[in-house]
Amino acid sequence: MTAAVEFDVWGSRGSRNLIPARSAIGNRTSCYSLLAGDELLIFDAGSGLAALGHAMRTEKRFRKVRRVHLFVSHAHMDHWEGLKDVEWFWSKDVPVDVKLYGSKETVRAIEGAFRPPRYVPLERLASSAASQFQVVTRKAGDQWAAGRFHARAFHLHHYSGDSTRPRRLATLGYAVTLNGGPGVAYLSDHEPTARTAAVEARAGREANLMVLDAHFPDRRDHAFGHGSQEHAASLAAGNPKTLVLAGHLAPSLSDERLEEARRRHGGKLSNLVLAVEGRTWGWDGARGRFVAGPRPRKPAGKRPAG
Ligand SMILES: [Zn+2]
Repeated sequence: MTAAVEFDVWGSRGSRNLIPARSAIGNRTSCYSLLAGDELLIFDAGSGLAALGHAMRTEKRFRKVRRVHLFVSHAHMDHWEGLKDVEWFWSKDVPVDVKLYGSKETVRAIEGAFRPPRYVPLERLASSAASQFQVVTRKAGDQWAAGRFHARAFHLHHYSGDSTRPRRLATLGYAVTLNGGPGVAYLSDHEPTARTAAVEARAGREANLMVLDAHFPDRRDHAFGHGSQEHAASLAAGNPKTLVLAGHLAPSLSDERLEEARRRHGGKLSNLVLAVEGRTWGWDGARGRFVAGPRPRKPAGKRPAG
């Protein structure tokens, strides 16, 4: 019997954490995982990573994980701040072999942030917790094997500042395929334009599940290197067999506003969903699609409607 393949949302809020937790949709910065037996592939290491690390200690389905492939999208802190708190670096109860992938700029930012006197190098923390930690630099166009996964990196369009004087970031999107299993694509952070359409189209065509930067409700809001639910909806409509998760949700938006935008743009699209923290999808190989698991176990606030 093959082990279950499951996709989980750990952090879907963009830019900053909501402390104390006040949303039933997302309170933590970016982190998503794809579990396959003793291997765990993770997209981004925002504060959601700390919640995932805790689950690796407390949830049976994660206890056998020994190899972690961690794909970090870019240098912004909200995409790696969870590294400081994740259990692997503090407890011998979660001994894992971690490989972190990112662009040169991303790797430099992370290593710089943990270099004394700012903090303790991650390799040092890992060894005292019986884990291993290794960093691998990747660039757009690279393809490689990460355990049982095949991975591809590609350019995303992300910057800080306004669009007239952008500070561009070396941001990578990732498409991964599990041998004999599903394909998953991760595009965050990313502001779609006419020039990026081919990148999104390929990801949508090849993936069974894709996570998109849907920071804003509408396309007219696109700014600061971020996309919208409206754009995510158009990709969901164009790829009806692909489950599209709207992530990197703006911290200024209430659950009501997020749900209103989902209704307005997603309408009858059953394959467009908000990336609600705590939600899980299992891979159904016979049907060739991801199937939603039970609703989140412990909602932080009130549950989202519908
Ligand atoms: Zn960013």
